[in-house]
Amino acid sequence: MASRRRTILMAIGIPLFVLLTVLSVIGLIYYRQLTQTRKLMRPMVTQQLEKNLYVCRAAWFNNFFLFKTDCGLVAFDTGLYPEVTRRELAKLGFRPEDVKAVFLTHSDQEHAGGAINFPNAKIYIGKDEVQMIDGTTGRVPWPLSIVYYNELKVPYETLEDGQVVDVCGLKVKTVFCPGHTPGTVVYIVGDKLIAGDSMGLKDGRIVGFNEYLFVNMDVERMNRSIRDILAKLPGITQILTMHFGMTSDVDKAFENWRRKR
Ligand SMILES: [Zn+2]
Repeated sequence: MASRRRTILMAIGIPLFVLLTVLSVIGLIYYRQLTQTRKLMRPMVTQQLEKNLYVCRAAWFNNFFLFKTDCGLVAFDTGLYPEVTRRELAKLGFRPEDVKAVFLTHSDQEHAGGAINFPNAKIYIGKDEVQMIDGTTGRVPWPLSIVYYNELKVPYETLEDGQVVDVCGLKVKTVFCPGHTPGTVVYIVGDKLIAGDSMGLKDGRIVGFNEYLFVNMDVERMNRSIRDILAKLPGITQILTMHFGMTSDVDKAFENWRRKR
C-alpha cells in the first residue's frame, strides 16, 4: 500500500518538479534579458524641445512626446503611473486633462498603460495591434503569456497604414512598422519621425530595438521594416525614440540600413 502511494506521488511529483524547474529557468532568463536591455536605454528627461514640442519622462527607462496645438496637447505614447505623469507634466505647466489625443506606437504597457491617465483624450492605435489587446496574440510565448500580456483599458480608435489624422491642425501620419510587436507603428509629424520601439539608437545610428529574447516579437520583420520602410521615408530630419533619445542626423542614423540590400 505504502509503495503504491509512493509510486503515485512520484508519478505526479517528478513531472511537476520538472515543469516548475523549466518555468523558473525560463522566467529567470527572461528577467535577466529584460534587465540587460534596460541598461542600454537612454531615455530623455522632461523638457521643452522646440516651440510646440515637449518630451516627458514616463518611467526610468522611457519617455513620451507632446505637441502643443491650439486646442490642447497631443501625446505620442503615455506615461504609466498617474502620479508620475501628473508630476512630470506639471514641470512643463500642463495637466493630464490638457491632453486631447493620444497616438500609441504599440500596446506595451510602458507606452500604452497610461492612456487611462488622460480623461479627455481620444486614443488611437494601429489596427494590427488590436490582436495584442484583445487576447488573440500573447506578448510572450506560452506559458509566460498567462502572467504577462498587453491590455488597453480605454476605448480606442484604430489607424490604417498611411492614414493621416488632423488634430487641431497637427497632421499625424501613421506608418505600419511591424516587428517589435505585430502592430507597431511610427508616426510622422511634419519632418519628425516618432519611432516608438520600431528601432533602437546607439551612438547616433539606428540598430534593432535590441537583441534580447522575446522583447522583439519578430526580429527579422523588424529589420525588414527598418530597411524597407523607415530608411526610405522621404523628408525626415529628426528621429524621436521612446527609450534611446533622439537624433537630427538622419543620414548618419540610416547609413548602414540604406547600404543594405
Ligand atoms: Zn518600449
